[in-house]
Amino acid sequence: MKQSILLTFLSLSLLANAQVTPPLAPAEPVEPSVPAVEEPKVEVPGDSAEEEQKEIPKAIPVEEEPFIPLGGMAQLTEQADIDLFTKGKNIGHVQNNPKLKFRRLVQRTIMPTEPFSKAGAVLTFDDQLVSDSSKMSSAIEIGKDLAPLNARAIFFANVNGVSGTNVYHILRKKISNDAKKKLVKDLFAEKKEEFVSTMRSLIKIQGPADADGNREYICEVFNHTAFHQDMSTLKKGTIRYDVCIMGIDFIEVCIDEAYAAERPGWERARYFRFPFLHTPKDSATKADLNKKFTELGLISVGETQDSKDFINYSANTAYKSLAAAKRHKRYTPKYGVYGVADKPVALFHIKTWKKIKSGVIKAIKEK
Ligand SMILES: [Zn+2]
Repeated sequence: MKQSILLTFLSLSLLANAQVTPPLAPAEPVEPSVPAVEEPKVEVPGDSAEEEQKEIPKAIPVEEEPFIPLGGMAQLTEQADIDLFTKGKNIGHVQNNPKLKFRRLVQRTIMPTEPFSKAGAVLTFDDQLVSDSSKMSSAIEIGKDLAPLNARAIFFANVNGVSGTNVYHILRKKISNDAKKKLVKDLFAEKKEEFVSTMRSLIKIQGPADADGNREYICEVFNHTAFHQDMSTLKKGTIRYDVCIMGIDFIEVCIDEAYAAERPGWERARYFRFPFLHTPKDSATKADLNKKFTELGLISVGETQDSKDFINYSANTAYKSLAAAKRHKRYTPKYGVYGVADKPVALFHIKTWKKIKSGVIKAIKEK
């Protein structure tokens, strides 16, 4: 079942253009070790003809194997962002409008394992899955709102209830680096159960059944660091860097645990998105991080939307942003529609869902 593929820049591009089979959830819960097709049909005497008919599916789904997304087990020879997103690299992306100084014309983010979205763009949502404030939205609300539309919601998660402030408080203590790392470890241990349980609630959400009774999983969770640190000034060999890496490892462990519990046998894809979309400026650090990503099988999503594009605080801007993405365009609230989105990946924030929901859903429903 294990797939090992070499993802190079070229094959990534090819994959990005390939039609990917949508992840199908089993229509009914089945024992993980027993394929559904081999399940014996149980004859129950006394069953009415009508009930019997209901129990026999009209068509046996062709694919009984669990969907194995490409990329999950990928051994990356190098990260996509080296080729596609490095600042200063000439990919013909510089401004198409004098107002848009330094703005990238082409958005080349790709998520090669994502099926073509019914929403017209891959819908991604960032940050803590559950907010500290009840006024803010949670990832579960998003999953439940999008499930009836069969629109997938991709989450880039930090640990619930921790932030850069927690790191700051730990790191400024007058104790040894080992003692600091121990405190970080303890903090993770304290948050783990709730975090994994939130993810389990999310990744079990399924869309409506199709004619054959198959249902698709709606939500996936990926890595956005533990603390949402700004990684632009990180330097390899410092405690800040070490703690950041501990957090990235921790998130992968938690996501693995949630998937193993909720979708046994499922080989998930692994993506990473930088907090604030900020990559380390220091090239040695960037290189070390890319090595780490490769070890973990993580694909760095790289540039998604410009930092000014993703502040979709209103339903109206969220609508315009997604409507533009569906036309393979980029969008910024300040200047409007511009440029090209090769593979539209829309970025929203989990906590603002209540404010933007009507606009996002309107854009999804439009042809
Ligand atoms: Zn974020």
